[in-house]
Amino acid sequence: MSRIINITSNRNPVSQEIKNSLVEKLTDAGFTVRNVTSKNDFDREAELIVCIGGDGAMLRTLRYLDFPQMPIIGVNTGHLGFFQEIAPEQLDSFVEAYEKGSFIIQELKVAQAEVDTVKGKAILSGLNEIVIKSDMSRSVHLNLFFGDNFVERFSGDGLLISTPAGSTAYNYALGGCIVDPRIDLLQVTPMAPMNTKAFRSFTSSVIVPPEICINIEPEFTFENSLLLVADGYEYTFSDINHITISFSKEKVQLLRLEGYEFWNKVKTKFLE
Ligand code: NAP
Repeated sequence: MSRIINITSNRNPVSQEIKNSLVEKLTDAGFTVRNVTSKNDFDREAELIVCIGGDGAMLRTLRYLDFPQMPIIGVNTGHLGFFQEIAPEQLDSFVEAYEKGSFIIQELKVAQAEVDTVKGKAILSGLNEIVIKSDMSRSVHLNLFFGDNFVERFSGDGLLISTPAGSTAYNYALGGCIVDPRIDLLQVTPMAPMNTKAFRSFTSSVIVPPEICINIEPEFTFENSLLLVADGYEYTFSDINHITISFSKEKVQLLRLEGYEFWNKVKTKFLE
């Protein structure tokens, strides 16, 4: 039976060139390749997705395909390439390593926000993070609970809830800590917290174990709407009663070549 691989790519001409070259190499190696340019092209019987682009392309592919439970690997033509495992010049060695089974799967948990509004419920997913902030550049006031326990009335620009996989992204730029994805936790990072006589908020990230739901009840003073941002995708909600953030059932299975080590990746992308 033929072995099928889905390929997605961003529109960048370099990515398109690499895609064509990879299609040729995989076909020569006996794989059937699906060039995924729409949801209809995506083959659910395939064994792998290859995503060509940067981390942004990886995040868009996962969202577009509804976080498929199929291994995925990235070829980096973007700027940073934290999720992307293969450099464009490594296509031959990747095909060889893949045929030999010389790879590991890094399982990454996805965060989920359940938004309960007067009009009904919605669910958003994010591999990196979920951000809750004003849609009008004003400060927001968010009552934060861990499970049933009231923790703080946050005042400031917003709250970012990061997964371990997202800890190196927006979370890190906000002063949150880098988390090894082998550790199971959610990180709540404040965005410009106000900590004065008028408003009291934590000024550092706080970390909760996976079994605790993060519950947020917004207070509305001027506008009655908030912006929720999942991996860069914006959703506006009005009349929110309650937001619950926890891990979803979906997991991203990121393929990594043998020898992959999280902290080596951090070192090369952030310090060298
Ligand atoms: P973008 O604004 O073009 O990307 C921002 C940068 O974040 C890119 O360099 C991207 O890498 C990198 N990145 C994405 N996920 C990462 C991860 N898990 N670890 C380390 N770096 C990561 O937007 P985008 O490419 O569509 O990505 C959306 C993400 O941007 C959001 O999930 C959020 O985390 C991040 N973001 C960061 C800031 C900030 O740092 N101030 C502000 C807004 C959003 P590539 O260059 O390989 O694409």
